[in-house]
Amino acid sequence: AAKAAGKSAYRVCTPRLRESAVSRAELIADLRRAVDEGQLLIEFQPIVDLATGTVKSAEALVRWRHPRLGVLPPARFLPLAEETGLILAIDRWVLGQACRAAATWRQRAPEVTVAVNIAAAHLRRPDLVATVTEALEAAGLPPDALTLELTESALIDGSETVLERLAQLRELGVRIAIDDFGTGYSSLSYLHRIPATELKIDRSFVARLDAEDSRAYATVEMVNRLAGAFDLMVVAEGVETGAQHAAVAAIGCVQGQGWRYGRPTALPDLLATLTPIDVAR
Ligand code: C2E
Ligand code: MG
Ligand code: MG
Ligand code: MG
Repeated sequence: AAKAAGKSAYRVCTPRLRESAVSRAELIADLRRAVDEGQLLIEFQPIVDLATGTVKSAEALVRWRHPRLGVLPPARFLPLAEETGLILAIDRWVLGQACRAAATWRQRAPEVTVAVNIAAAHLRRPDLVATVTEALEAAGLPPDALTLELTESALIDGSETVLERLAQLRELGVRIAIDDFGTGYSSLSYLHRIPATELKIDRSFVARLDAEDSRAYATVEMVNRLAGAFDLMVVAEGVETGAQHAAVAAIGCVQGQGWRYGRPTALPDLLATLTPIDVAR
Protein backbone atom coordinates (compact mmCIF):
# COMPACT_ATOMS: atom_id res chain seq x y z
CA ALA A 1 0.00 0.00 0.00
CA ALA A 2 2.89 2.33 0.94
CA LYS A 3 4.48 1.58 -2.38
CA ALA A 4 1.29 2.36 -4.25
CA ALA A 5 0.84 5.62 -2.33
CA GLY A 6 4.44 6.61 -3.03
CA LYS A 7 3.98 5.88 -6.66
CA SER A 8 0.84 7.94 -7.02
CA ALA A 9 2.39 10.81 -5.02
CA TYR A 10 5.23 10.83 -7.50
CA ARG A 11 2.78 10.81 -10.38
CA VAL A 12 0.83 13.78 -9.03
CA CYS A 13 4.02 15.83 -8.84
CA THR A 14 5.01 15.22 -12.43
CA PRO A 15 4.87 18.69 -14.04
CA ARG A 16 3.16 17.51 -17.21
CA LEU A 17 0.40 15.86 -15.25
CA ARG A 18 -0.07 18.82 -12.93
CA GLU A 19 -0.41 21.01 -15.98
CA SER A 20 -2.99 18.73 -17.55
CA ALA A 21 -4.89 18.60 -14.24
CA VAL A 22 -5.08 22.40 -14.17
CA SER A 23 -6.19 22.65 -17.74
CA ARG A 24 -8.78 19.99 -17.07
CA ALA A 25 -10.17 22.02 -14.17
CA GLU A 26 -10.09 25.12 -16.32
CA LEU A 27 -11.83 23.33 -19.12
CA ILE A 28 -14.60 22.26 -16.74
CA ALA A 29 -15.02 25.85 -15.51
CA ASP A 30 -15.08 27.07 -19.11
CA LEU A 31 -17.60 24.42 -20.06
CA ARG A 32 -19.93 25.57 -17.27
CA ARG A 33 -20.09 28.97 -18.94
CA ALA A 34 -20.16 27.68 -22.52
CA VAL A 35 -23.89 26.98 -22.73
CA ASP A 36 -24.93 30.30 -21.18
CA GLU A 37 -22.46 32.30 -23.22
CA GLY A 38 -23.55 30.84 -26.52
CA GLN A 39 -20.26 29.11 -27.31
CA LEU A 40 -21.82 25.84 -28.41
CA LEU A 41 -22.76 25.33 -32.02
CA ILE A 42 -24.36 22.58 -34.03
CA GLU A 43 -23.37 21.10 -37.35
CA PHE A 44 -25.84 18.95 -39.24
CA GLN A 45 -24.83 15.93 -41.27
CA PRO A 46 -27.19 14.58 -43.94
CA ILE A 47 -28.48 11.01 -43.81
CA VAL A 48 -29.52 9.77 -47.25
CA ASP A 49 -31.64 7.07 -48.79
CA LEU A 50 -29.09 4.68 -50.28
CA ALA A 51 -31.24 3.82 -53.29
CA THR A 52 -32.17 7.34 -54.37
CA GLY A 53 -29.67 9.67 -52.67
CA THR A 54 -32.52 11.73 -51.24
CA VAL A 55 -31.72 13.42 -47.92
CA LYS A 56 -34.05 11.83 -45.36
CA SER A 57 -32.69 13.24 -42.15
CA ALA A 58 -29.81 15.17 -40.60
CA GLU A 59 -27.91 14.41 -37.41
CA ALA A 60 -27.16 17.27 -35.03
CA LEU A 61 -23.52 17.19 -33.88
CA VAL A 62 -22.37 19.59 -31.19
CA ARG A 63 -19.13 21.60 -31.27
CA TRP A 64 -17.68 24.07 -28.79
CA ARG A 65 -16.19 27.34 -29.97
CA HIS A 66 -13.76 27.74 -27.07
CA PRO A 67 -12.59 31.35 -26.60
CA ARG A 68 -8.89 30.39 -26.62
CA LEU A 69 -8.68 26.84 -28.02
CA GLY A 70 -10.84 27.30 -31.10
CA VAL A 71 -13.58 24.94 -32.23
CA LEU A 72 -13.42 21.69 -30.23
CA PRO A 73 -14.96 18.39 -31.40
CA PRO A 74 -17.27 16.46 -29.03
CA ALA A 75 -14.49 14.02 -28.13
CA ARG A 76 -12.60 16.90 -26.47
CA PHE A 77 -15.36 17.94 -24.08
CA LEU A 78 -18.21 15.43 -23.91
CA PRO A 79 -16.32 13.07 -21.56
CA LEU A 80 -15.89 16.03 -19.14
CA ALA A 81 -19.50 17.00 -19.67
CA GLU A 82 -20.61 13.49 -18.76
CA GLU A 83 -18.42 13.37 -15.64
CA THR A 84 -19.75 16.69 -14.37
CA GLY A 85 -23.37 16.27 -15.35
CA LEU A 86 -23.11 19.29 -17.69
CA ILE A 87 -24.09 16.89 -20.47
CA LEU A 88 -27.73 17.29 -19.42
CA ALA A 89 -27.75 21.03 -20.14
CA ILE A 90 -25.74 20.59 -23.32
CA ASP A 91 -28.02 17.91 -24.75
CA ARG A 92 -31.10 19.91 -23.79
CA TRP A 93 -29.72 22.91 -25.65
CA VAL A 94 -28.86 20.83 -28.70
CA LEU A 95 -32.29 19.19 -28.65
CA GLY A 96 -34.07 22.55 -28.55
CA GLN A 97 -31.95 24.06 -31.32
CA ALA A 98 -32.12 20.97 -33.50
CA CYS A 99 -35.92 20.83 -33.26
CA ARG A 100 -36.13 24.50 -34.27
CA ALA A 101 -33.75 23.97 -37.17
CA ALA A 102 -35.77 20.97 -38.39
CA ALA A 103 -38.99 22.97 -38.22
CA THR A 104 -37.28 25.53 -40.46
CA TRP A 105 -36.02 23.09 -43.07
CA ARG A 106 -39.33 21.23 -43.16
CA GLN A 107 -40.91 24.36 -44.62
CA ARG A 108 -38.86 23.62 -47.70
CA ALA A 109 -38.41 19.86 -47.40
CA PRO A 110 -41.42 18.66 -45.38
CA GLU A 111 -40.29 15.05 -45.03
CA VAL A 112 -36.77 15.62 -43.69
CA THR A 113 -36.38 14.63 -40.06
CA VAL A 114 -33.72 15.38 -37.43
CA ALA A 115 -31.60 13.08 -35.25
CA VAL A 116 -30.23 14.13 -31.87
CA ASN A 117 -27.74 12.27 -29.68
CA ILE A 118 -28.83 11.70 -26.11
CA ALA A 119 -26.32 10.72 -23.41
CA ALA A 120 -27.01 7.77 -21.14
CA ALA A 121 -27.57 10.11 -18.17
CA HIS A 122 -30.89 11.23 -19.63
CA LEU A 123 -32.32 7.75 -19.37
CA ARG A 124 -32.03 8.00 -15.60
CA ARG A 125 -34.02 11.26 -15.53
CA PRO A 126 -37.74 11.06 -14.76
CA ASP A 127 -38.20 14.32 -16.74
CA LEU A 128 -36.82 12.93 -20.03
CA VAL A 129 -40.22 12.61 -21.67
CA ALA A 130 -41.23 16.11 -20.52
CA THR A 131 -37.94 17.58 -21.80
CA VAL A 132 -38.46 16.04 -25.22
CA THR A 133 -42.13 17.03 -25.38
CA GLU A 134 -41.29 20.63 -24.47
CA ALA A 135 -38.60 20.87 -27.14
CA LEU A 136 -40.99 19.52 -29.78
CA GLU A 137 -43.80 21.86 -28.75
CA ALA A 138 -41.58 24.93 -28.56
CA ALA A 139 -40.38 24.25 -32.11
CA GLY A 140 -43.74 23.14 -33.46
CA LEU A 141 -42.14 19.90 -34.64
CA PRO A 142 -44.18 16.69 -34.89
CA PRO A 143 -42.75 13.87 -32.71
CA ASP A 144 -42.20 11.54 -35.68
CA ALA A 145 -39.80 14.10 -37.15
CA LEU A 146 -37.37 13.48 -34.29
CA THR A 147 -35.02 10.54 -33.78
CA LEU A 148 -33.19 10.19 -30.48
CA GLU A 149 -29.86 8.38 -30.88
CA LEU A 150 -28.77 6.27 -27.94
CA THR A 151 -25.64 4.17 -27.82
CA GLU A 152 -25.77 0.46 -27.25
CA SER A 153 -23.98 0.82 -23.92
CA ALA A 154 -26.54 3.37 -22.73
CA LEU A 155 -29.29 0.91 -23.54
CA ILE A 156 -28.05 -2.42 -22.28
CA ASP A 157 -28.14 -1.65 -18.58
CA GLY A 158 -31.72 -0.62 -19.21
CA SER A 159 -33.87 -1.10 -16.13
CA GLU A 160 -37.63 -1.46 -16.38
CA THR A 161 -37.98 2.28 -15.68
CA VAL A 162 -35.69 3.14 -18.57
CA LEU A 163 -37.58 0.83 -20.92
CA GLU A 164 -40.85 2.37 -19.75
CA ARG A 165 -39.51 5.87 -20.50
CA LEU A 166 -38.45 4.80 -23.98
CA ALA A 167 -41.83 3.20 -24.57
CA GLN A 168 -43.52 6.49 -23.63
CA LEU A 169 -41.38 8.34 -26.16
CA ARG A 170 -42.28 5.77 -28.80
CA GLU A 171 -45.96 6.18 -27.93
CA LEU A 172 -45.60 9.90 -28.61
CA GLY A 173 -44.20 8.99 -32.01
CA VAL A 174 -40.55 9.87 -31.37
CA ARG A 175 -38.13 7.55 -33.18
CA ILE A 176 -35.30 5.79 -31.36
CA ALA A 177 -32.00 4.76 -32.91
CA ILE A 178 -29.39 2.42 -31.49
CA ASP A 179 -26.18 4.31 -32.31
CA ASP A 180 -22.71 2.84 -32.99
CA PHE A 181 -24.18 -0.64 -33.12
CA GLY A 182 -21.60 -3.39 -32.77
CA THR A 183 -19.12 -1.47 -30.62
CA GLY A 184 -20.56 -2.34 -27.23
CA TYR A 185 -19.96 -5.51 -25.31
CA SER A 186 -23.63 -6.32 -25.11
CA SER A 187 -25.27 -9.61 -25.72
CA LEU A 188 -27.91 -9.39 -28.39
CA SER A 189 -30.61 -10.38 -25.94
CA TYR A 190 -31.46 -6.77 -25.11
CA LEU A 191 -32.56 -6.05 -28.68
CA HIS A 192 -36.08 -7.38 -28.33
CA ARG A 193 -36.66 -5.31 -25.21
CA ILE A 194 -35.66 -1.93 -26.63
CA PRO A 195 -38.49 -0.15 -28.45
CA ALA A 196 -36.11 1.12 -31.16
CA THR A 197 -37.02 2.04 -34.72
CA GLU A 198 -33.58 1.96 -36.26
CA LEU A 199 -30.07 0.71 -35.89
CA LYS A 200 -26.91 2.56 -36.95
CA ILE A 201 -24.06 0.25 -37.94
CA ASP A 202 -20.86 1.70 -36.53
CA ARG A 203 -18.41 3.14 -39.00
CA SER A 204 -15.62 0.78 -37.91
CA PHE A 205 -17.45 -2.01 -39.79
CA VAL A 206 -18.21 0.13 -42.82
CA ALA A 207 -14.55 1.25 -43.01
CA ARG A 208 -13.39 -2.35 -43.49
CA LEU A 209 -15.69 -2.95 -46.45
CA ASP A 210 -13.16 -1.12 -48.64
CA ALA A 211 -10.51 -3.77 -48.39
CA GLU A 212 -12.95 -6.36 -49.75
CA ASP A 213 -12.63 -7.96 -46.36
CA SER A 214 -15.11 -10.84 -46.60
CA ARG A 215 -15.54 -10.99 -42.83
CA ALA A 216 -16.41 -7.29 -42.68
CA TYR A 217 -18.93 -7.84 -45.46
CA ALA A 218 -20.41 -10.82 -43.61
CA THR A 219 -20.64 -8.79 -40.42
CA VAL A 220 -22.58 -5.93 -42.01
CA GLU A 221 -24.77 -8.44 -43.81
CA MET A 222 -25.49 -10.27 -40.56
CA VAL A 223 -26.30 -7.05 -38.68
CA ASN A 224 -28.58 -5.99 -41.52
CA ARG A 225 -30.44 -9.30 -41.42
CA LEU A 226 -30.66 -9.19 -37.64
CA ALA A 227 -32.13 -5.69 -37.82
CA GLY A 228 -34.68 -6.91 -40.34
CA ALA A 229 -35.81 -9.61 -37.95
CA PHE A 230 -36.36 -6.93 -35.29
CA ASP A 231 -38.08 -4.59 -37.73
CA LEU A 232 -35.34 -1.98 -37.38
CA MET A 233 -34.39 0.33 -40.24
CA VAL A 234 -30.64 0.19 -40.88
CA VAL A 235 -28.37 3.21 -41.30
CA ALA A 236 -24.76 2.64 -42.35
CA GLU A 237 -22.47 5.15 -40.61
CA GLY A 238 -19.21 6.62 -41.86
CA VAL A 239 -19.59 5.83 -45.57
CA GLU A 240 -16.58 7.56 -47.12
CA THR A 241 -15.99 5.88 -50.49
CA GLY A 242 -17.87 4.73 -53.55
CA ALA A 243 -16.91 1.13 -52.81
CA GLN A 244 -18.33 1.37 -49.29
CA HIS A 245 -21.50 2.93 -50.65
CA ALA A 246 -21.90 0.14 -53.22
CA ALA A 247 -21.34 -2.51 -50.55
CA VAL A 248 -23.82 -1.19 -47.97
CA ALA A 249 -26.41 -0.60 -50.71
CA ALA A 250 -25.91 -4.14 -52.09
CA ILE A 251 -26.23 -5.60 -48.60
CA GLY A 252 -29.57 -3.84 -48.29
CA CYS A 253 -28.96 -1.14 -45.71
CA VAL A 254 -31.69 1.47 -46.18
CA GLN A 255 -29.92 4.71 -45.30
CA GLY A 256 -26.35 5.97 -45.22
CA GLN A 257 -24.41 8.72 -43.49
CA GLY A 258 -20.83 9.75 -44.15
CA TRP A 259 -18.44 12.00 -45.99
CA ARG A 260 -19.41 10.36 -49.27
CA TYR A 261 -22.82 12.06 -48.96
CA GLY A 262 -21.91 15.13 -46.96
CA ARG A 263 -19.82 16.37 -44.06
CA PRO A 264 -21.37 17.94 -40.99
CA THR A 265 -22.18 21.55 -41.94
CA ALA A 266 -23.77 24.70 -40.57
CA LEU A 267 -27.52 24.96 -41.05
CA PRO A 268 -27.47 27.35 -44.06
CA ASP A 269 -25.23 24.96 -46.01
CA LEU A 270 -27.45 22.01 -45.15
CA LEU A 271 -30.53 23.90 -46.30
CA ALA A 272 -28.94 24.44 -49.68
CA THR A 273 -28.50 20.69 -50.17
CA LEU A 274 -31.97 19.59 -49.10
CA THR A 275 -33.92 20.50 -52.20
CA PRO A 276 -33.17 22.59 -55.23
CA ILE A 277 -34.31 26.12 -54.42
CA ASP A 278 -37.71 26.77 -55.91
CA VAL A 279 -37.13 30.01 -57.79
CA ALA A 280 -40.82 30.44 -58.59
CA ARG A 281 -41.68 30.82 -54.92
P1 C2E B 1 -22.01 9.66 -33.59
O1 C2E B 1 -23.33 9.96 -33.01
O2 C2E B 1 -21.74 8.26 -33.99
O3 C2E B 1 -21.85 10.67 -34.81
C1 C2E B 1 -21.15 10.37 -35.99
C2 C2E B 1 -19.71 10.83 -35.91
O4 C2E B 1 -19.01 10.34 -37.04
C3 C2E B 1 -19.56 12.35 -35.95
O5 C2E B 1 -18.39 12.69 -35.23
C4 C2E B 1 -19.34 12.60 -37.44
O6 C2E B 1 -18.70 13.83 -37.71
C5 C2E B 1 -18.47 11.41 -37.77
N1 C2E B 1 -18.53 11.05 -39.19
C6 C2E B 1 -19.60 11.12 -40.01
N2 C2E B 1 -19.32 10.64 -41.22
C7 C2E B 1 -18.03 10.27 -41.20
C8 C2E B 1 -17.15 9.68 -42.17
O7 C2E B 1 -17.51 9.41 -43.32
N3 C2E B 1 -15.89 9.41 -41.76
C9 C2E B 1 -15.45 9.68 -40.50
N4 C2E B 1 -14.19 9.39 -40.21
N5 C2E B 1 -16.25 10.23 -39.56
C10 C2E B 1 -17.52 10.51 -39.91
P2 C2E B 1 -18.37 13.91 -34.19
O8 C2E B 1 -19.17 15.06 -34.72
O9 C2E B 1 -16.96 14.15 -33.82
O10 C2E B 1 -19.15 13.32 -32.96
C11 C2E B 1 -18.62 12.25 -32.23
C12 C2E B 1 -19.62 11.69 -31.25
O11 C2E B 1 -19.95 12.64 -30.24
C13 C2E B 1 -20.96 11.33 -31.88
O12 C2E B 1 -20.85 10.09 -32.55
C14 C2E B 1 -21.85 11.29 -30.65
O13 C2E B 1 -21.70 10.06 -29.98
C15 C2E B 1 -21.25 12.38 -29.81
N6 C2E B 1 -22.08 13.60 -29.93
C16 C2E B 1 -22.05 14.56 -30.89
N7 C2E B 1 -22.95 15.54 -30.63
C17 C2E B 1 -23.58 15.18 -29.46
C18 C2E B 1 -24.60 15.79 -28.64
O14 C2E B 1 -25.19 16.84 -28.94
N8 C2E B 1 -24.95 15.12 -27.50
C19 C2E B 1 -24.35 13.93 -27.14
N9 C2E B 1 -24.75 13.35 -25.98
N10 C2E B 1 -23.40 13.34 -27.87
C20 C2E B 1 -23.01 13.95 -29.02
MG1 MG C 1 -25.21 9.66 -33.38
MG1 MG D 1 -23.07 6.94 -34.52
MG1 MG E 1 -20.21 6.39 -34.41
